This record gives sequence, C-alpha cells and structure tokens, in this order.
Amino acid sequence: MPILVTLLLFAVVVYAGWPPPAFDLTPRQSAVFTACLVLASVSAAALVSGSVARAVNRHLDRRAVIARRYLRWRQAAFFLNVGITVLCLFAAGWGWTVRTQVLVEWRGIHRLAPFAELLVPAPYLVTLVLNWAVYWPAERALHLAGGADRPFWSLFGYWLYHARQFAVIVFPPVALGAAHQTVSRYFPQAAHSWWYQGLMPLAAVAVALVLPLALRPLLGLKRMPAGPVRDRLQATAGRVRVRYAEYLLWPTRGAMANALVVGLVPWARYVVFTDRLLDGLDADELDAVLGHEAGHVRHWHLPYYLLFFLLSSTAVTMTVVLGVKAVGWEHSAWANDLLTPLTLAGLGLYLFAVFGWLSRVSERQADVFGSRAVSCGDPACGGHTADTPLAGRRTAVCPTGARTMARALERVMLLNGREPEQAARRFWPRLLGWVRAWQHGPMSARVEFLHRVAERPALAAAHDRKAFGVRVFLVVALAAVIAAAVYAGGRQMWEWI
Ligand SMILES: [Zn+2]
Ligand SMILES: [Zn+2]
Repeated sequence: MPILVTLLLFAVVVYAGWPPPAFDLTPRQSAVFTACLVLASVSAAALVSGSVARAVNRHLDRRAVIARRYLRWRQAAFFLNVGITVLCLFAAGWGWTVRTQVLVEWRGIHRLAPFAELLVPAPYLVTLVLNWAVYWPAERALHLAGGADRPFWSLFGYWLYHARQFAVIVFPPVALGAAHQTVSRYFPQAAHSWWYQGLMPLAAVAVALVLPLALRPLLGLKRMPAGPVRDRLQATAGRVRVRYAEYLLWPTRGAMANALVVGLVPWARYVVFTDRLLDGLDADELDAVLGHEAGHVRHWHLPYYLLFFLLSSTAVTMTVVLGVKAVGWEHSAWANDLLTPLTLAGLGLYLFAVFGWLSRVSERQADVFGSRAVSCGDPACGGHTADTPLAGRRTAVCPTGARTMARALERVMLLNGREPEQAARRFWPRLLGWVRAWQHGPMSARVEFLHRVAERPALAAAHDRKAFGVRVFLVVALAAVIAAAVYAGGRQMWEWI
C-alpha cells in the first residue's frame, strides 16, 4: 500500500483547485467542521482499541478470534480514514480553506505560505499520527496475551516505531513535491530555468542513492551480531554472489517478521532482517529468505523499477495531454486545473494494474532464486543433510530447495499473525485477496507455485524466461507509446509537459 498512499498524498499536496465548503461555511467553520470529523474518527479508533484490550484480558482463550477481528477492523479503518479525509476536503472545504487563508505577502502579492500545501492532507495525517498512540493498548494486550517472551514497546517507543517508518518511506517524496511547489511559487523564473529542471531529477537520483545510508539511523537499525547466524548468511550470499555493505537487524520487539534489501549500489546496499524473523525461522529457511532478497539484486529488479517508473510517468502524462487535446479542451481553464489530478489518477490506476503485474512476476522470480540458493542441483534429490553441498546461483532448482522456500514463506505468514488463507473458490473473496496483495500476490498462490516447482523443477527456468519477456515487453511498449505521442503531439508535447 505505501506506494499508492504516497501517490495519493502527493496528488493532494500538489492539487490547487479544491472546492469551497458546502452550506456556505466560513473558513473558521470549515476548520471546526474538519477538526470534529478528525476527532470522531480518532475516538472510534480509541473505543475499538480499548474494548479489544479489555476483551483480550478477560478472555485469554479467545485471543485468536479477537486478533482476527481486530486485524479486520484495522484494514477497514484505513478506508475509514481515507473516506473522512475525502469528506473534509469536499464537504468541509478544508483544501480550499488552506489554499485561500494560509497566505503571506511576498513582493506585494499574497501567496500561499511556504510548504502550507502540506496542511491540505492534515486530516489524514493527524488521524494517522494520533492512531499510532491510540492503538497501543490493543496491540500491547494482544502481544502480551500471545505469550511472547519479549517486552512490548512503551507508548512513546511504539509511536516512534511507526513515525520512523512513515518518515522514511512516505514523507520524502511528498515533502519534495511541496518543496518544488514552494520554489515555483516564490521563484517562478528559477523554477523554469534549465539548470533547475536539470538539477531536480539529478537530486532525486542522488537521494535514491544516499537514502539507504540514512535508513540505518532513521529506522534505528543495528549491525547483526557476529555469530553462527551471520556467518551462515554471509556464506549463502557469497554462494549466490551478492555483496552487501552490511547485515542489519531491525529491532521491532517482535512486531514484524520481514526481510528487505535496500540500496542500488554494493557500497550502500543493506540486507535487513527483523528480530522476529531471525528468531522464528530455521537456518535453511533464513537462507531461502536471504536468497529471495538476493534474487531481487541479481535480477536487477530495483534499477528496473526506477526505469519503469520514469518511462511510465512520461507515457501516462503524454497520453493524458494528448487525450485532452483530442477532445479540444486544451484552452479551457478547468481542463488546466484538472490536468494534474487526472494525470495522477491515471497513474494510480495504471500502477495498480501494470506495476502490480510486474511486481508479482518479479516476486515469483525472487522466490525461484531463493529456492535456487538452497538447492543442491539434483532435480531428483530426496532431501538434504547438513553436509549436502548447496549450489551457486546458476544451478538448477531441486525439489528440496523449492519446498524450503515454500516453508519459509508459510512460516513468515504465521509469524505475522496471518492464518494460511483457504484457497478461496468464490469470485469476490478471491478478487479481494488479489487486490489486498496487489504487489506480491497472495502468499497461498506463491506457496502453491513453489510446490509445483518442486514437482517439476523445469518450471523454475520457465518462469525466469517469462519474467525476462515481461520486462522486455513493458520497456518496448512504453517506448512505443512515448514515440507515438511525440510523433502525434510534435514540439508542443514538450512545451505542454
Ligand atoms: Zn521480495
Ligand atoms: Zn536438493
């Protein structure tokens, strides 16, 4: 979800054409109305959190049922927060209030104050920030009732744990958007100059390269302690020929079982394991998870995603511009107002569909690579012992390797408190499962694929070929769309963008 949330926030920050409040509210009334809506939403969360905490303490034996219901509420609460924000922006006129009231005078003209656009999504952000504290009692009660051997976060520690993730993942692009708008507002000439327009993409690339270095202090990551676990992971990484600058441990107090790889270049590339994952997986399962992350690196998934985003945003923007021109709206003021939100909405839908597809194919390819990292190379092998020599990155997947990867995925799912999904037969539950897992695909589908690979190891190489084909197809198709748009739009295309 973070990608779509980031995109939505970005759109809300850069959009200028918010409608005035309904019912002729004054700006002050609009602000009070907005505050009441936010307060109502946070109060609902507080009621749920308190009742979950009480219920868990009273009925320890029903913890699993309560946990499942609570998880469902949290998923619904996300949409509730989005809905309330929409209400604030369109009924209470909050966006209009910010854009017309938070002004400063600069060179004789009243303009929106610097970075004031960040106030427009405030209803969403304030609810989010308060909820990190509001859900603490429920989370703590569920954690303690689960018989965990680890103490839970303090209230502030829990809040900070969420704030750090938000600050690292969602906030930077949104702040960059606000910074760009502020510069365009106060120094329009500089914003149109060639050096500024050339510098901005370079700055974005520099941030992408350096961000992994900042991640360590920002998320509070620690060096993984020396010992057999670290040695074994390093040996596995060596076998599949992936270099990491450091092996890091993410202390989440058991809140999350996850692993990730960050960074595009070896000197600033880290592999991160959360405490829960390191404690909860067997050694061979950890190898498989490390192999999965190594698969993302060896198949160049991250740089490819960057290229994909660059080509996609260009292609979508050009298509929207051409569409507006084709229906003859390019001279109307409201079409100009609508161009940005239309483009962003188009980009959101497109990302959900096309990037979702690409990402699911790539995840599966990483699963295949993870299987390979714990395979012996014998397609008919019947199991491994401690001395079975495991192969490198080019060997074939063996049945034991594929089953180890599948077992690791199932274990990760259980550690995160999800029950193995029943393979839903009915259409709607199935569709919902895919929508929820739009970036990775449902775990059950990934596990099932790995079991098929274990039966027929040749499927692994076939999937690698498919993944390669998908990536070539997308680049060629996007390049063709851009070329066609430039041909159809001519020189004007560049001026419009
Ligand atoms: Zn992955
Ligand atoms: Zn084997």
